[in-house]
Amino acid sequence: MILRKLVVGPLASNCYIVGSESSKEGIIIDPADEAEKIGQTVKELGLKIKLILLTHGHPDHIGVLKEVKEATGAEVAVHADDAESLKQQVLGLLFGFSYAPPPPPDRLLKGGDSIDIGDLHFLVIHTPGHTPGSICLLGHGVLFSGDTLFNNGIGRYDLPGGNYHQLMDSLQTKLMVLPDDTIVYPGHGPDTTIGAERRNNPFLHG
Ligand SMILES: [Zn+2]
Ligand SMILES: [Zn+2]
Repeated sequence: MILRKLVVGPLASNCYIVGSESSKEGIIIDPADEAEKIGQTVKELGLKIKLILLTHGHPDHIGVLKEVKEATGAEVAVHADDAESLKQQVLGLLFGFSYAPPPPPDRLLKGGDSIDIGDLHFLVIHTPGHTPGSICLLGHGVLFSGDTLFNNGIGRYDLPGGNYHQLMDSLQTKLMVLPDDTIVYPGHGPDTTIGAERRNNPFLHG
């Protein structure tokens, strides 16, 4: 599996570019900002991007969605429960972001869906709490956790659509049940593992 992490934008959002070694097809997870840097990296890796996947609809993860979609021609996938929030410029204002209105999603996801790119197969896990339509993507020993789980932290639950009890339920029943050695690539900050978070994350013990 080809995997590249880019840290972009004013909130240091993580954008991941994931590709199949054999088919050279790829996905972009969270085109947050710096479209040129994303495009350059895709080119370096020699990938044909088939899908742009959003872990959730917050502005700090979709800042250059329009540009990246236009550049790649790839479909955009987001959980159905966050599809509406893509249109809500009010959240952008809340975060102090201004960006081109994002294109409507091509594919609405739900928990249990699979994302297949060449020989790569990922499972969509619906993890509401940070937003109603937050998802994590699991496959090949790694978890892309969006803003649900961070290295030594958890997502905010005080923004519109956030819910603390849902977030804790998602973390405990959907993520903390994964194997210890699952590598976690979050929406912000350094990567971690499920085992390290199970042992050390103060928000998961209360
Ligand atoms: Zn967020
Ligand atoms: Zn974020």
